[in-house]
Amino acid sequence: MLGSDLDAVVRGNVERVREQVAAACEAARRSVGDVTLVGVSKYVGPPETAALVRAGCTVLGESRPQLLWSKAEAPEVFGLPIQWRMIGHLQRNKVDRTVSVAAAIDSVDSLRLLKAVNDAAAAAGKTMAVLLEVNESGDAEKHGFAADDLPAMLGELGAYRNVQVEGLMTMAAREGDRDTARHNFAALRELRDRVATPNLPLRELSMGMSGDFHEAILEGSTMVRIGSALWEGVL
Ligand SMILES: *Cc1c(COP(=O)(O)O)cnc(C)c1O
Repeated sequence: MLGSDLDAVVRGNVERVREQVAAACEAARRSVGDVTLVGVSKYVGPPETAALVRAGCTVLGESRPQLLWSKAEAPEVFGLPIQWRMIGHLQRNKVDRTVSVAAAIDSVDSLRLLKAVNDAAAAAGKTMAVLLEVNESGDAEKHGFAADDLPAMLGELGAYRNVQVEGLMTMAAREGDRDTARHNFAALRELRDRVATPNLPLRELSMGMSGDFHEAILEGSTMVRIGSALWEGVL
């Protein structure tokens, strides 16, 4: 696709998705400023990713660490004002480099990973923003803490001074319909409401993708992770 066509298509997609996010916020009587659009760039290369940034979507999610690193360093992308968020499973041997590139890791799914992120952040002299991924749907193939294990896990956080746990993340059941997704999202919000404290308000709820972000916003999502809907006409 020619660069100018690519820009026009991506700009149109971003506008449409932002309108749909705004409509969901209105239906939920929430402020549109309370929901961050995380553009998921995993399906595309650096030129398309740069087009997304030019269209005003500057918070980007990648689900594979190597792709996040290489994209962040690609000539088309390097230097653009991007906040990278790691949204997929992260192995501990990939933590150091991811901590150096990403602004946040939204997919912390074990205490061992949290410890590794904490150590890497400490070595780099920084504090890393993270979300804890909860397997709210109970899908066996999904990563994430079991909801029942979360309270005990939060009790351990005091030991990790170089991570800032800002909230929770989940993915809806793979096989489910929108009602099932909404049920999963409500369960995550209720879990947050039960375990949050004044010292650990867990404000962020990262939930909702292209097929279910309307339901997620109705249930309190503060970050929607949207891929396919932003790449219509591009893929
Ligand atoms: C791919 C992916 C998304 C985006 O999914 P779409 O259905 O394409 O919007 C969101 N979150 C995670 C963790 C993903 O891996």
